[in-house]
Amino acid sequence: MKDRDSFIECLSPKQLAELDACTQCGECLKYCPVQEVTGNKAISPPEKIRMFREFIRAAEGLKARLFGSRIDDKLLQDFVKAVYECTTCGACGQACTVGIFTQRLWPFLRKEMVRRGLGPIGAQAETPDAVKNTGNPYKKPAEERFKPWFPENVRVSEKSEIAYYAGCTGAYEAQPMVKGDVIVLNAIGVEFTMLPPEEEVCCGFPLFITGQHDMLEDLVKRLVDAYSDRGVKTLLCSCPCCVNMMTRDWPVFYGRELPFRIRHITQFVADAINNGRLVIKKKLKERLIYHDPCYLSRGVGITEEPRMVLESISGVKLLEFDRNRANSRCCGAGGAARKVYHENAVAIGRLTIDEAVAKKADRLILSCPACYAKVNEAMEGYDKKIRIVDIMELVSGLIEGK
Ligand code: SF4
Ligand code: SF4
Repeated sequence: MKDRDSFIECLSPKQLAELDACTQCGECLKYCPVQEVTGNKAISPPEKIRMFREFIRAAEGLKARLFGSRIDDKLLQDFVKAVYECTTCGACGQACTVGIFTQRLWPFLRKEMVRRGLGPIGAQAETPDAVKNTGNPYKKPAEERFKPWFPENVRVSEKSEIAYYAGCTGAYEAQPMVKGDVIVLNAIGVEFTMLPPEEEVCCGFPLFITGQHDMLEDLVKRLVDAYSDRGVKTLLCSCPCCVNMMTRDWPVFYGRELPFRIRHITQFVADAINNGRLVIKKKLKERLIYHDPCYLSRGVGITEEPRMVLESISGVKLLEFDRNRANSRCCGAGGAARKVYHENAVAIGRLTIDEAVAKKADRLILSCPACYAKVNEAMEGYDKKIRIVDIMELVSGLIEGK
């Protein structure tokens, strides 16, 4: 590592002020899911912030200027692990007494680590090449993106004011969810378009969240221009990470306001139910519990529309987790940590299963492909069982009369 190499190049003035503002009060500690399952103090927000402030001081302070910087390598290694072990769920920021926007801050600390050659970690480093070569982070062929799950009876228009983006995780790892999305759109009777599988590439979230931002401008421009060319005015998507990336970050990487608006599938479907374009006739006499995905609730503030959809199903009793809406607990899959810190992710996922089972829910309803994949995985070999279903998978099943 070079002496006096800055630690603040990737951070905005606001983020520097946030780092400075942490009072080390520890209020956020109660909410960190990783700390809950590992007991690892280094992961905690005040500890990460304290360490990072030390690096800044060691690299930029008066002593560093006079005598050169000295950074403890072990401390730096611990920090890199902590900043990548975090699921970026943002629960700490929600509870922060001085309002630090941690869901935004942590990814930029990761970007700083990437700039210094210390991140990303493990298989995350393969993401840029995977996206470049296959269009998705899973290295799956483009021809398998839609073919295995797309229903034959659903028609996709060449051009339309409404477009649907399936997303990589949904298309390759949570197919009942994306299949449910298009069945419901079809039932609403809305004309929609989609990009062909080789053009519907990754939204950029796995690159953004791991701090690997180099390809993002190009990726975002390709996607935005492709939708724009099809006359799209509304882009629908069910993956909270994609929706978050599109809403918050696409305009930044595109360089200006997007020529269309972004909506989560539950917003569109809740509207269709409210204005009578979708009627769910079939009853469901079940106790359902809905888990708020971090990037949907804390990320873009969507908490009520999924509940409106579920409550519109006759016979349903909707239960709540103790921590719900903007205070929900992460499923363990976020922040690209699920593949690298698999055990943490499984342990966190099991906390969600435990609570759903304790509340005697018949089914656990999810609305995120990463949650869907991870909570299903957490159930493997676990003695507690609950039926897991995506919200549109459920609705599509009731429409189709399964
Ligand atoms: S974002 Fe979530 S996992 Fe990361 S430190 Fe905060 S509470 Fe813990
Ligand atoms: S709640 Fe906010 S101010 Fe307090 S320790 Fe956590 S990050 Fe720092």
